[in-house]
Amino acid sequence: MNKDHIETDVILIGAGVMSATLGTMLKELAPEWNIKVFEKLDSAGKESSNEWNNAGTGHAALCELNYTKQQEDGSVDISKAVDINEKYRVSQQFWSYLAAKNVIDQPRNFITPLPHISFVRGERDIDFLSNRFEAMVKNPLFRGMEFTDQYDTLKEWMPLMMEERDPNQPVAATKVNAGTDVNFGELTRLLMNHLEQSDVDVQYQSEVYDVERQDDDSWEVKVKNFENGTIEHHKTKFVFVGSGGGSLHLLQKSRIPESRGIGGFPVSGLFLVCDQPDVVAGHGAKVYSKAPVGAPPMSVPHLDRRFIENKETLLFGPFAGFSPKFLKTGSNADLFTSVKKDNLVTMSASGLKNASLTKYLLQQLMLSKEQRMEELRQFVPQAKDEDWELVVAGQRVQIIKDTEEGKGTLRFGTEVVSSEDGTLAALLGASPGASTAVSIMLELMEKCFPDHIESWEDKIKEMVPSYGLSLSENPDLMKELEESTAKALGLDSQDSSGKLYSMQ
Ligand SMILES: Cc1cc2nc3c(=O)[nH]c(=O)nc-3n(C[C@H](O)[C@H](O)[C@H](O)COP(=O)(O)OP(=O)(O)OC[C@H]3O[C@@H](n4cnc5c(N)ncnc54)[C@H](O)[C@@H]3O)c2cc1C
Repeated sequence: MNKDHIETDVILIGAGVMSATLGTMLKELAPEWNIKVFEKLDSAGKESSNEWNNAGTGHAALCELNYTKQQEDGSVDISKAVDINEKYRVSQQFWSYLAAKNVIDQPRNFITPLPHISFVRGERDIDFLSNRFEAMVKNPLFRGMEFTDQYDTLKEWMPLMMEERDPNQPVAATKVNAGTDVNFGELTRLLMNHLEQSDVDVQYQSEVYDVERQDDDSWEVKVKNFENGTIEHHKTKFVFVGSGGGSLHLLQKSRIPESRGIGGFPVSGLFLVCDQPDVVAGHGAKVYSKAPVGAPPMSVPHLDRRFIENKETLLFGPFAGFSPKFLKTGSNADLFTSVKKDNLVTMSASGLKNASLTKYLLQQLMLSKEQRMEELRQFVPQAKDEDWELVVAGQRVQIIKDTEEGKGTLRFGTEVVSSEDGTLAALLGASPGASTAVSIMLELMEKCFPDHIESWEDKIKEMVPSYGLSLSENPDLMKELEESTAKALGLDSQDSSGKLYSMQ
C-alpha cells in the first residue's frame, strides 16, 4: 500500500463527458493547475457517454415535447425549452472554440446536422403541437421551425414513417433543420486525449473507493489501481465526482452535509437498432413523439438516424427497464447499498409515491420483442422483425430527494451537489445531460471557484461568447453565433431547402 500522499490541485473521478468537459475548461482557464483523472475502466467514455449507451440527441428542445407544457388554458409554456436551447448553444460555442484551436480536429467526427421533428397523432395532440409551434416560432431561438398536417409534406420529411400509414389517420409534425446528432463517446475520447497531451495524468483501471476530508480542508482520494494491484492515496484541493451512476455512492462517502437525504433510482434503457441500408435511407431525422400516458419523461419514444463508427443506423426507443445497478458495469447491490440512515425515509416515501412508475418499469421489462416491434410500428408501419435488433443502452440514476413537491420526489434533471466551501462537487441525474455539459460546468465553476471566476471572465467569454447573456434577448448576437458555430463545426453543409444531405 502506498501511503504517501500524492498532491494535486484537481482530481476528476470518472472519464465520461462531464469530467472531460470540466478538465478541458479548467486547462484553458488555469493551465498551471495540476489535474488528475481516475477511471475504473480501461478507456474513456465507456459508460453513459458511450455512443451506443445514449441517444446522441443534441438536446436543444427543438423536438422533445416533454420540455414544453400545456397549460390549463391551452397555451404552451416554452420557458424550459428556451433554457435548454440556450444551454445547448453554449456547448456548441465551446466546441467551436476547441475546433478553432485544433483541439477538435474534425468536428464532423462527433457532430452531424440532422433535422429534429416532433410527430403527433390524434386531434388533441395536433392541437397541442399547433399551439406549441405558435408559441415557439415567435422566439428567435426557434426561428425556422415549420408545422404541417399535410400528408405530402410529411412524406417528404419522413418517408419511412409515412409509407403504408393509414391516410385517414390525423397526424402532424414540426421540423427544425438546425438539429444535430452528437456522438458523445467520440467527443469524450477527443477531449480526454487532449487532456493527456496537455500533461493531465489520466489513470485508467483505477477505481476511487473513498473520498475523505482532511483537517486542512483538502481531500484524500483513495484509489484501487487494478493495473499493478496497489492502493494509492492522493491529496487534492478540489474533487469533481463525475462518476455518472457511481457518483451517488462517492458523494455519500464524502459525508458532506449536502449529500444527506439524497437517494437514487436506476432506470435502464433498451433501443431497437436497424442497419439495413434500404430501411435507413428512408429516414433522415430525429423524430420525437409523446410519451404514453403515465410514462416517465425519459421514455418519450423517438426514431433517430444515427452516425456511429462511420455507419448510418436507425435507433428506436428507449424502452425502459429495471436493473438495480447504478452503472452498466456496476453491481446488483448498488441500489441496496445506496440506502442509508439519512435517506431511508426519503427513499421509502418515494417507493410509495412512485408505485405507478415501478409498475410501468416492470411492464416495460416484460415486453416481448413482438410487443416492442408493435410500438415501433406506430412509427414505422411496415417495420420487419428481422431488420431490428435489441441493444442495451446506459443506466440512468434518477435523483430522489425531498422538495417542495413533497417527500421522496423523483427528479428527472441533472444536479450539481457541492460542499459549502466549494472543494467538492458531484454531478447527479441524467437529463438533458451531455448536451448541456458546458453550462453545467460553468455553473459548477461559479459555485466552486468564486475567488477565480472574476479573473477568468475574459477567457470564459473567449470560449463562450454569450457567457452571462440571454441569446433569446440578444437576437443579433444569437444569429452571429449561430452562423459562426455552424461554420466552425461544419454544420453549414446541410441543404438549405431542408432536405437532408444524405437523402438528396
Ligand atoms: C439511455 C440514455 C439515453 C440518453 N440520451 C441522451 C441524449 O440523447 N442526449 C444527451 O445529451 N444525453 C443523453 N443521455 C445522458 C448522457 O448520456 C449523460 O448525461 C452523460 O453521458 C453523463 O456523463 P458522465 O460523464 O456524468 O457519466 P458517464 O459517461 O457514465 O461516465 C462516468 C465514468 O465514471 C467512471 N466511474 C464510475 N465510478 C467510478 C469510480 N468509483 N472510480 C473511477 N471511475 C468511476 C465510469 O466507469 C464512467 O466511465 C442519455 C443517457 C441514457 C442512459
